Amino acid sequence: MAGGKCIALIAHDQKKDDMAEFARRHQQVLSNFRIVATGTTGGRVLEACPTLDVLPLKSGPLGGDQQIGALIATGEVDMLIFFVDPLTAMPHDVDVKALMRLATVYDIPMALNRATAERLIDFNLSGTGAGHVQTN
Ligand code: PGA
Repeated sequence: MAGGKCIALIAHDQKKDDMAEFARRHQQVLSNFRIVATGTTGGRVLEACPTLDVLPLKSGPLGGDQQIGALIATGEVDMLIFFVDPLTAMPHDVDVKALMRLATVYDIPMALNRATAERLIDFNLSGTGAGHVQTN
């Protein structure tokens, strides 16, 4: 992938409206990043914010979470924002766990809910974020 810091965005089905709203609200900060996303989430984010640099990968249940995990392992993703639905059983639960595991192994900032994502974005905006996610 080309240079520049990269954020991965994923939202489970019940959280996709939240993610689209989050992207709209933080469009300015997100425009400083390249974005990779699972397929459906990426489509929703692009629909909400057509000018963002979003690369949609495969849909989560079809391997998208694993693709993002691989990008974390190769150092190409600097931050993960993942709006998890804790109330629905997922056929690809093992992929989701594997992704979270890799984000932990490689110690990248990982937000699993909106409250944490808001704080990560604010942290980055304030210019006091960790060096590896800060853009200015
Ligand atoms: P999706 O994948 O964005 O393609 O729906 C997300 C997921 O369920 O992991």
